[in-house]
Amino acid sequence: MSTVLRESMRRFGTSIFSTITDLAVQRQAINLAQGFPDFDPPQRLLDAAATAVRGGFSQYAPSVGYPDLRRAVAGHQAARYGQRWNPDTEVTVTVGATEAIWSAVHALIEPGDEVLLFEPFYDMYPPCVVAAGGVPRVLPTSGFPDFRLDLDELAAAFGPRTRMVIVNTPWNPVGRQFTADELRTLGELCQRHGTYLISDETYEHVLFDGRTHLPAVSEPLLADRTITVSSVSKTFSATGWRIGWAIAPAGLTDALRRVHQFVTFTASSPLQRAVATMLDDSGPEFYAQLTAEYTERRDTLLGYLAKRGDLELTRPEGAYFVMTRCAGDELEFCRELIDRAGVAAIPASAFFAEPATGRGLVRFAFCKRLETLRQAGERLAAR
Ligand code: GLN
Repeated sequence: MSTVLRESMRRFGTSIFSTITDLAVQRQAINLAQGFPDFDPPQRLLDAAATAVRGGFSQYAPSVGYPDLRRAVAGHQAARYGQRWNPDTEVTVTVGATEAIWSAVHALIEPGDEVLLFEPFYDMYPPCVVAAGGVPRVLPTSGFPDFRLDLDELAAAFGPRTRMVIVNTPWNPVGRQFTADELRTLGELCQRHGTYLISDETYEHVLFDGRTHLPAVSEPLLADRTITVSSVSKTFSATGWRIGWAIAPAGLTDALRRVHQFVTFTASSPLQRAVATMLDDSGPEFYAQLTAEYTERRDTLLGYLAKRGDLELTRPEGAYFVMTRCAGDELEFCRELIDRAGVAAIPASAFFAEPATGRGLVRFAFCKRLETLRQAGERLAAR
């Protein structure tokens, strides 16, 4: 326990992902906890990176990112969603979506400003807001299994200090998208109160059962006040590359860039180069295959979890996690699962401001090879 850590950050312990992954390594458990693939990115991406590493791309890229990668990101938004962004003034390359969010929050928040978050939230949102001097205001949902927003409660939460809202759609760990109605309400409220939105769309390509991604900016009221964030982590199975981007109107992009330049300056040059090639080369068939593979992984894990009989299940619409509920204490459940079954999962109470609100919730990741999921599944089903 650090005693020199500034007081406001002390309530945030070690990230649950590090804690459980360390435990999984120690106990040699199969890691269905931290969301990272146990397979390599597409060969084309690896080859492009190897070529870039061999020469010509070892010095700083421009702080805002290589022009060809910014053009590729704008091209992706145009081809997939019909959006038009200027790559020179509206797209910024960052060190993963995490840095994009960090830079955006630090660029826009004044001390004491409120930032609305929805529970269960992705774990870095509250500490990021607090580090910027902001005040996280966490809104509950209807809870397991639907996690619907109460739109009246949402309206009541907005006030003169509400500077920003952060959403994750598709939503880790809940596994659903924000609906057009929810985005409309958010748009009306954000417009009325002069509030910005960060839309973390990292799982934009992991959607099931014929669903298509609904970007926050497809709601016209949000178009000029949203910073859209995404990355290569999930789309190209490269969580360790730390390449992401932020897309926003020029005024917001300028603000974000002025922080970003002093946080990381720029992201890895050869990897930026490789991602530009990969994005340009990935057509609808690439994304269709990603969907097909993740559907098979989701259904495989769900099948095994259903066999246990002691977990209530959800069927994710998107993202690569299954949210479940056990009858007792989720920490106890996860501890036993590691010790007895040799499988690690995340106690999802970590994604709540008051862990008691998330009692019983356990999240399983299925971004793993089918063979890994089957092996984990046999262990889970045998209990
Ligand atoms: N996004 C991943 C998850 O939700 C892990 C992120 C991390 O380890 N920081 O599991």
